[in-house]
Amino acid sequence: MRRFPCFCKPCLDKMKEPIELRYTGTNNNCEYRDIFNKSDGTSYNDWKLIKLSPKPKQYREEDDLAQLEATVRGIRIRMAGQMHVGVFGAYITDDERYDYYIFKCTVAPKQSDGNKVFRRDGNDFPVKDGEWYCEGMWLDKVPITSNWHVVTGQK
Ligand SMILES: [Zn+2]
Repeated sequence: MRRFPCFCKPCLDKMKEPIELRYTGTNNNCEYRDIFNKSDGTSYNDWKLIKLSPKPKQYREEDDLAQLEATVRGIRIRMAGQMHVGVFGAYITDDERYDYYIFKCTVAPKQSDGNKVFRRDGNDFPVKDGEWYCEGMWLDKVPITSNWHVVTGQK
């Protein structure tokens, strides 16, 4: 191992030596030796064989949760930035008829300032403090077709 591979001619020559010689002692022929000299005669850039061993993992669930929270927050902000009035959005659902719901955005995304429940056309939509939400009109599948949808009047 070397800290600063300089690729000067003497160091390139040193690289051609057998490994047991290449990484032992000091490399006094390096053109940059004066820069790396230490008072004890060795160099900060001496070649050495070292043994690497993995540090025991100190797993902390809080680290994973904090990372997940930051990732989800980033996704929310990016999605909110892409959602505008008139564009279409989709989200997964556990409805037997649909794998996902599609909607047309009618009110631009907002970030909730408190826990709220919005009632639209007989359905409750809970939103937690800090979450992003928008409003829209549902799309429904056109019968017999595979991927055709039509905007309904339902919010
Ligand atoms: Zn060198």
